[in-house]
Amino acid sequence: MRILLVEDERLIADALKVSMGRAGYHVDWVADGVSAEDALAASVFDLIVLDLGLPGQDGLSSLKRIRGQGRSEPVIILTARDAVENRIQGLDYGADDYMTKPFDMDELLARARVQIRRANGRSRPVLALRNVTLDPAAHTVTQDGRPVELAPLAFQVLSILMERKGRVVTKDDLASCLYGWEDGAESNTVEVYVSQIRRRLGNGFIRTIRGIGYIADKE
Ligand code: CA
Repeated sequence: MRILLVEDERLIADALKVSMGRAGYHVDWVADGVSAEDALAASVFDLIVLDLGLPGQDGLSSLKRIRGQGRSEPVIILTARDAVENRIQGLDYGADDYMTKPFDMDELLARARVQIRRANGRSRPVLALRNVTLDPAAHTVTQDGRPVELAPLAFQVLSILMERKGRVVTKDDLASCLYGWEDGAESNTVEVYVSQIRRRLGNGFIRTIRGIGYIADKE
């Protein structure tokens, strides 16, 4: 899962990158609204974490512009502005959630999981597909109730395919989600992790769409 972090304070950005990275997200960090719009024009993100007090264009203006362009990525505002009117304005401008600084990292991660699963049309916190379940919070996978060990990156690949079940995910999309975890994460890196998942869960769980990518079929 890929997160766009719009935050001008380096210390906060660094802390978020480390914590969100450990939780299995890849964070792209930008420090102002214009760079955020450039990043959104270039890539697909699963979530945007947006500061309001930004240099140049204010975070609220950025939010308004992003939504005005028809972008529907979930947005969590993370700001020092704690007045009720700011919260209301942020939500009315199209944010999905609003947290004030100082914030608790675990709570932010929990709220990120909520937004990502809702964006994928899911109300249950655990991903379930056929005989496999994946718990994004606990970082566990089971098959027929038995625990399955996966390397962290294989876990990421599996969670993306299960989150988007029934849809083809391109190798490039998977590689860009892994990018930053490992130098030179490319399509062959993705293949390595898909092979590992197949060794653990059986060949049929992930189907190759030749020349395009992979799919975890619904049935
Ligand atoms: Ca700020």
